[in-house]
Parts: sequence; C-alpha cells; structure tokens
Amino acid sequence: EALNKVLDLKGSIRVFCRVRPFLSTDKKRLRDPISIGSEKVVVRSNSVKKEFSLDKVFPQEAGQEDVFLEVEPIIRSALDGNNVCILAYGQTGTGKTFTMEGTNKQPGIVPQVLEKLFSLAARDNSISYSFSMSMLEVYMGSLRDLLAPKLPARTHETSSKCNLNIQSDPNGFIKVEGLTDVSVSDLTQASRWYTKGRRARSTSWTNVNDASSRSHCLARITIARSGTVEGVKAKVSKLWMVDLGGSERLLKTGATGQTLDEGRAINLSLSALGDVIAALKRNRGHVPYRQVLSWVLSLKLIVYIPFFGLNSKLTQILKDSLGDGSKVLMLVHTSPCEEDVGETTCSLIFAKRVR
Ligand code: ADP
Ligand code: MG
Repeated sequence: EALNKVLDLKGSIRVFCRVRPFLSTDKKRLRDPISIGSEKVVVRSNSVKKEFSLDKVFPQEAGQEDVFLEVEPIIRSALDGNNVCILAYGQTGTGKTFTMEGTNKQPGIVPQVLEKLFSLAARDNSISYSFSMSMLEVYMGSLRDLLAPKLPARTHETSSKCNLNIQSDPNGFIKVEGLTDVSVSDLTQASRWYTKGRRARSTSWTNVNDASSRSHCLARITIARSGTVEGVKAKVSKLWMVDLGGSERLLKTGATGQTLDEGRAINLSLSALGDVIAALKRNRGHVPYRQVLSWVLSLKLIVYIPFFGLNSKLTQILKDSLGDGSKVLMLVHTSPCEEDVGETTCSLIFAKRVR
C-alpha cells in the first residue's frame, strides 16, 4: 500500500534499468564499467562520462525476485481498475525475454504477475474479478494472434497490411478486432495459455535467422471487476506485458534487405512509443499517437513509409493503456560489454526521454 502511494506521487511512469550479467559467451567486459548506484548509471566511453538517472537500477547480480518486488505494487493497481503497461526495452541479447518470461527455475515477470494476480483476487471478498488473456505479435506492422486455434501464417509483406484491425470505441477503449481473448479463471489455465502463446511465437521463427528479435510480443490480461460494496466501480482494466523488439540501430550492424526493413519497423515503432510516453508526461491532455510519427517521417525518414505505414501499430494498440490514469513501467535493459557501449548509451538516452 505504501509503495502504491509512492507510485502515485511519482507519477504514472517509472523507468528502471537492468544490467545483464556478463556471460561466458561475451567477449569483453566494459573496461571501466558501467558504475551503478541504486538510482543512476554512469557510462564511460572514450573518457567521456555520461550519467543517467532512473527510478531504480538493477545491477548484474539482481535476481528475478528483486525485479518483481518493484513490479508488484502495479498489480494491485491493475486490480483497482487502472490500465497498466510493463515494457521490456533494449538491444537484442540484453535480457528482455529473460526478464519477461524467464526460465522454469527463474520465472520472469509474466509468470510471477499471473501468480500474484490470482492470489490477490482470491483474497478479495468484496469484489469479484474475471480475467481474460490475449497474446499477439507485432511484426513489420502486421499483427498475429498467438492464441488463435490455428496459428495464422506470418505475413512478410513490407506494406502495413494487417490481418487484425485496431478499433477505438467512443470511450476511447481500444479493441483489436478478431483477437482471441480466452477467459482464464485460475493460474493453471492462464499459465497453460501463456505457454501456448510463447510456443506459437518461437516455433514459427525457425527459418528466419533471429528475426524474432525484430518483433514485439504482447501479452494482455483483461480484468473485469464487479463489486457489491459501495464505492466500488464496475470497471474493466488491461494489464499489458510487452517484450519489445531489439532497439539496436540498424546502420551499425550492416543489415540489408529483409533484415533492414524489419529493423526500420522496430526502430520506428520504438521511437513512436518513446514519443508517446514522453508526450504523456509533458501534457496529459494531448498525446500525439499519429502526429509524432508523421512528423518524424516528414523530417527525414520518408523512405520508411512503404515499410511501415503512417502509424505505429504498437502505440495504437497500447494507446488507451498509456493514457490518463494508467501506469507505465519501462524496463530498459543494457549489456555489460565494452563493444555494446554505444547501444547502452542509446538505450539510456531513451530511458531519460521517457522518464
Ligand atoms: P533479449 O530477449 O533481450 O534478446 P535474452 O533474454 O534472450 O535477451 O537474453 C540473452 C541471454 O542472456 C540469454 O541466454 C539469457 O538467458 C541471458 N540472460 C539475460 N539476462 C540474464 C540475467 N539477468 N541472468 C542470467 N542470464 C541472463
Ligand atoms: Mg528476446
């Protein structure tokens, strides 16, 4: 409860940084490494020192449960009727999927959230909750329903063609038309669907070299509450848990063709997301979901239009969950390696912008 107060006081956007541990496959550890305080990161490259402030920094030795401790208060908030977005941002290989999904032995945010959600709901006598779950993948501006009975094929068209339509009702409630939404009444059911969605995502990437890192994966829990107690509003809220596509800049990696197109799509949707969140803080009334992107495009990124279309699917989908009264938790992931210092700096600049 106290933490919830802090969340409210600090505003609805919190930005964390998680530094991945040094792995045996890594080449070279940062020489004069990222130094870490609990609320700041200092990056040194070519004797230039840059300092970034965050709401919380998870050092390399932080475990899944440490991360979850900071996420926990937001679950209560979702049950109370607020929309919530938990987003994992960062360069490919920095641990986004590890943070969100985790492993059997080290479960990530999603399995821990599911567990907590159902246990909190069960303890609440005055309110009855019902839950449903959806999972989708956003790849090059097209959406794929990961819980569909028969998994639709991924389209590789570079147009903004999309097999599911995003609609906004008069109340501003966003609906992805045709998206499977399964009702889940307990943790076992929810976990089973989550496993199915994860599998649907990974198995279909086998012949595309590491392309999964260039798609966004979104899991959504819709919470409907009905109360018998006075003052309890019947309300529907959404809890999004998003494993974003890799944020690495494409020019550096020498990508070409399909890979380059995918990278452009990801870079554009991430910058649109950053713009929306940054605008959200500055001016709660007006958030430029569409305008910002077309502004970016008109400046210098005109070439991206054929690949991406004018709107970012990602921000359109999350629109009503990034707006007024919603809680956003951005987990920016960084590498401990020397060769990644450029990307690490970029990710931290993103963090600074949305914070
Ligand atoms: P991403 O999804 O950002 O591309 P991954 O989650 O796949 O990155 O992580 C890359 C590798 O690093 C994986 O082998 C993962 O198990 C490992 N890893 C990442 N973060 C951690 C961590 N905090 N502790 C242990 N291993 C980690
Ligand atoms: Mg991943």
